[in-house]
Amino acid sequence: MIPYGRQLVEADDIAAVVDVLGSDWLTGGPRIDDFERALCAQTGAAHAVAFANGTAALHGALSAAGIGPADRVLTSPLSFVASANCARFVGAHTDFVDIDPKTLNLDPAAVGACDALVAVHYSGLPVDLTSIPTRPRVVVEDAAHALGASTPDGPVGNCARSDMCTFSFHPVKAITTGEGGAVTTNSGALADALRRFRSHGTVRRPDLGGWYYDVATLGYNYRMTDLQAALGVSQLAKLERFVTRRNAVAERYHGLLASLPIDLPPVAPPGVRHAYHLFAVRVPNRRAVYEAMHAAGIGVQVHYVPIYKHSLYADGSRSGADFPETERAYDGLLSLPIYPALTEADQDRVVEVLERCLA
Ligand SMILES: *Cc1c(COP(=O)(O)O)cnc(C)c1O
Repeated sequence: MIPYGRQLVEADDIAAVVDVLGSDWLTGGPRIDDFERALCAQTGAAHAVAFANGTAALHGALSAAGIGPADRVLTSPLSFVASANCARFVGAHTDFVDIDPKTLNLDPAAVGACDALVAVHYSGLPVDLTSIPTRPRVVVEDAAHALGASTPDGPVGNCARSDMCTFSFHPVKAITTGEGGAVTTNSGALADALRRFRSHGTVRRPDLGGWYYDVATLGYNYRMTDLQAALGVSQLAKLERFVTRRNAVAERYHGLLASLPIDLPPVAPPGVRHAYHLFAVRVPNRRAVYEAMHAAGIGVQVHYVPIYKHSLYADGSRSGADFPETERAYDGLLSLPIYPALTEADQDRVVEVLERCLA
């Protein structure tokens, strides 16, 4: 089976993890600091806080921003459910902004009144945050797809137009730590709140004794281990190579698929770098094509079932009719395999099978 995405873990990545196993710290140790420093260097943000996974990072971001039950949070319906669940975790009301069919990102011009926006960079193409009519009180970028992407403002993650930016290091994402996530921010106060939230809300009080810590706010155990952070440091050094390779795969698809009766994904506008986490085409008869491709050993996937369709969000306050562009796009969406280790021969096979399935 050729999967739609997969990690590339090499001998030096493995050695970095094995090293940690023989060290004094398996969690909460120096590799976490190293990884957070490397994330700051990559993104240009002042602070990075590593989390157990990208979902925990989103939860931490909304909590650190003080979003709660009185607040309304908007996000893209064409995303992984965690982009919306994070608002539910803190008791906020969640709603959605229809996508712009040209980018498949939420339409920034359609962002109405809200307390917080979770702006998802779908497939690794940064959503244009300069086009939001009125900046909401809190802007969080869900950059799970977009590590290594950039805009005229600089690397995604520098929080040039947001309060915080969250990442995921799940194996299908740009780099992996197994499970893992992070939040970047330029605010020292938010970074402190994120660190408390990650570790039970504890704050050390050496004035009351070397052992003493206080807990003034509710927190979780959302820590990343040093094993994961060591893998993250090793992988992050390869990000440039990985994203360059993803762009080459995408460019080759654009050439090979140009004459097929399908819609190709949007390309990055001038000055923007796409991270190509996904290569999502739109095909006719999607269900039949999906099944035929799986039968032929091509693990295509659909990103995503629109979040408002999930039973958890079907509260009667909205329907597909409220999101016509998301409905139209979802009808045909199909993510073709894209990852750094995908060979040209594998890619040729994907194209050949797709062509046959469409015929
Ligand atoms: C992967 C992903 C997440 C969640 O990350 P995990 O590390 O799997 O918890 C959140 N948002 C989006 C858009 C994602 O693709």
